[in-house]
Amino acid sequence: MTELRTLKVALLGCGNVGAQVARILLDDAEMLASRAGARLELAGIAVRNLDAPRDVELPRGLFTTDAETLVKDADLVIELMGGIEPARTLILTAMRNGACVVTGNKALVAKDGPTLHEEADKAGVQLSYEAAVAGAIPILRPIRDSLSGDRITRVLGIVNGTTNFILDQMDSTGAQFADALAEAQRLGYAEADPTADVEGHDAASKAAILASLSFHTRFSLDDVYCEGISSVTAADIAAAKDAGFVIKLLAIAEKLEATGGETSTEAADGNTGVSVRVHPTLLPREHPLAAVHGAFNAVFVEAENAGELMFYGQGAGGKPTASAVMGDLISAARSIVLGGPGRAETTTGQVVALPITSAVTSYYIGLDVADQPGVLAKIARLFAEHGVSIEIMRQTIHRDADSNVESAELRIVTHRASEAALAATVEAVKGLDVINSVTSVLRVEGV
Ligand code: NAP
Repeated sequence: MTELRTLKVALLGCGNVGAQVARILLDDAEMLASRAGARLELAGIAVRNLDAPRDVELPRGLFTTDAETLVKDADLVIELMGGIEPARTLILTAMRNGACVVTGNKALVAKDGPTLHEEADKAGVQLSYEAAVAGAIPILRPIRDSLSGDRITRVLGIVNGTTNFILDQMDSTGAQFADALAEAQRLGYAEADPTADVEGHDAASKAAILASLSFHTRFSLDDVYCEGISSVTAADIAAAKDAGFVIKLLAIAEKLEATGGETSTEAADGNTGVSVRVHPTLLPREHPLAAVHGAFNAVFVEAENAGELMFYGQGAGGKPTASAVMGDLISAARSIVLGGPGRAETTTGQVVALPITSAVTSYYIGLDVADQPGVLAKIARLFAEHGVSIEIMRQTIHRDADSNVESAELRIVTHRASEAALAATVEAVKGLDVINSVTSVLRVEGV
């Protein structure tokens, strides 16, 4: 049997994911060698604190605090430190020294993807980051490779497990946002500072990556419109449930065209491009993404020829994420063994990122109104005047036990309308004397 060559692997970071990657590299060395066509030798692990406890028992001699020296002598570098610096500089150094890089760092790829890709192309090395979106779920490679002969028209993703857990908890127990967040923190699904998750920033990074691969154009975080879930109330969830919807935080990347077409959506303002956005969204309870519970992730892809596809699984966690890292590592190792840079991303799409005002979607609007005759007609007329057509209008009467005054709650679901038309309608509705308050305005998909 011919002797396999050995490739040196530098691991940057030994936290939740890095420790599991180190374990797999050491425990499954034979299996990995047979699949990669080369022995993958873990040359060293760079960390901040040599004495920190690790999730996995690993030889102490592997650890170093000198990440820079480690990457300069590696064939393959796995970056699992997180953050922008020093991860960015170390990745660039590794590639300039001819190493292929695997990373799970969505924040870095979303922020500075173009620079990283340019450097990878220049150096003729592979840069891969399957773990950066939806943890264990193979989604980037199917979009990049399996669907490369098709045209993707829309991607809808539940790509943040923390917010899906919180919204699912609110939906199943009736809890308020703060209580569901506290439960997520108690169970370890949410960090002590949950801002990046609940305000949608983490999902926005993933939306930029999904949009870039789906539409063959490099989008960055600045191209993503982002709203989080901290203002979603138990009343919103209950009203959505009552109307047959569930509320999910979706990362959406959607092709919009000036005139629309059989498989594409018409832009509100006659532009052509891609709308990349993250916001709480009502989905019909029968939509496949509505069945994604707890901290699970799923990505729903629509393509011209493939039709609808759904990818589902664990979006985070040390072992699941390490699985995605290892897939990238084997692919990079094979590209070294076989020669050539391997499968690169194409950026031939060159479509522009459209502002949120270009998006066209349906809306759910909750109104607290006076219980008087003629109210419904007044509201319906005002919607019609603004070109927003109503699909469903439901009224529920409440009587205040103390004052004995009756008020009505109106729930409206519109047909597809532009953001601008909807905003103007809501402003006009607020000015009606029969309106006590606008209780919620949420976007609806999948109808
Ligand atoms: P983590 O548990 O916080 O571990 C980070 C590791 O990097 C630690 O070992 C830390 O060293 C090391 N490190 C941090 N800064 C360093 C520096 N300046 N120099 C040297 N070492 C440094 O992170 P994680 O959860 O494993 O996540 C790693 C990456 O994967 C992140 O980009 C994250 O976004 C991504 N990711 C994570 C998950 C997940 O489920 N956790 C899922 C998908 C993607 P010490 O241990 O010495 O402090």
